[in-house]
Amino acid sequence: MVVEARLRRCQRRRVDASAVTEEEGGRAVMETSTEEGGGAYACKVCYSDTNSDEEYNYDLLSNKGPLNWGNIKEEWHLCKNGTRQSPINLQENRAIVVFNSSGIQRNYRPANANLLSTDHDIMVNWTENAGYILINGTQYQLVQCHWHSPSEHTINGIRYDLELHLVHRSLNAVAVIGLLYHTGNPDQFLSTIEDDLTLMAANITNVTHLGIVDPEQIAGLTSNKYFRYNGSLTTPPCSENVTWTVFTQQKTAGREQIKLLRAAVNGDVSCLNLAY
Ligand SMILES: [Zn+2]
Repeated sequence: MVVEARLRRCQRRRVDASAVTEEEGGRAVMETSTEEGGGAYACKVCYSDTNSDEEYNYDLLSNKGPLNWGNIKEEWHLCKNGTRQSPINLQENRAIVVFNSSGIQRNYRPANANLLSTDHDIMVNWTENAGYILINGTQYQLVQCHWHSPSEHTINGIRYDLELHLVHRSLNAVAVIGLLYHTGNPDQFLSTIEDDLTLMAANITNVTHLGIVDPEQIAGLTSNKYFRYNGSLTTPPCSENVTWTVFTQQKTAGREQIKLLRAAVNGDVSCLNLAY
C-alpha cells in the first residue's frame, strides 16, 4: 500500500502517443511503454539536475525518489512502513472513505501572505491569522496552501491535472483540504499571480509578498460534498494521523497556468516548452 501511494505521484496514465505528462520536482525524463490494452503510457517529470542538495525528489529512478524516501532518514520511516499513507484513490464504495454531504465549517479571513517557490511546490504562506476550519469540534488553523501537478489523489481511478492542498494545524494534528482541477477556463486566483510565477520560472526570485490574500478566493468552493479519510502527509516525513477532506467539486485552470506552475517549481523554465 505504501509503494502504491508513492507510485501515485508518478502514475502512468493513458495519453496520446505524442503527449506527455509531467510531475513537479522531477528530472526531464520520459518513459513510454505499451501496457495491456495497447495504450501508450508516459510519465514525465521535470526538475533541475543541478539541485543535488535536495533531500528528496519525485524521480522513480533516483535513490532520493518516492520508492526510497523511507530509507533516506530514520525519521522518514513511515514513508516505507506506514499503514495509512496518502494519497489514495477515492471511491465511494471503499470503507476507508466517508462520502459526506454535510458542510465542513470554514472560518477563513483575508490576511497577508507570501508566494514561495520551493524545491517541490509553489506555496502561498500566510504570515498572519488567515482563519481556521472546524472538524468534529477541533479547530485547525490555516497555515499555507500549495499545488501538485498532476493531482496526487484520484477519484474512481481518474487523475486530474492539478491539486490544491490547504494545510491546517491544531496543537497536535494536521488537517488538509484537497481540491482537484482539470484543464479549462483560467483560475481567477492563479491569474493574479502569473507575473510572479513567471519570475520564479526564470529563477529571478523565489519569494514574493502578495499582500492580503483571501483563502476563500483560492478555494472558490460552492459545494460541500467531500471525501473524508485518515491518511498521511504526502511528502517526507509522511507523518500519519492527517485528516483529509477532498472535495468532489472540481475547479478549472488554464493549460498555460498549469504549465507555469510546474515551471515555477525550482525555477525550471524548460518545463514551459513541454506539452502535457
Ligand atoms: Zn501537498
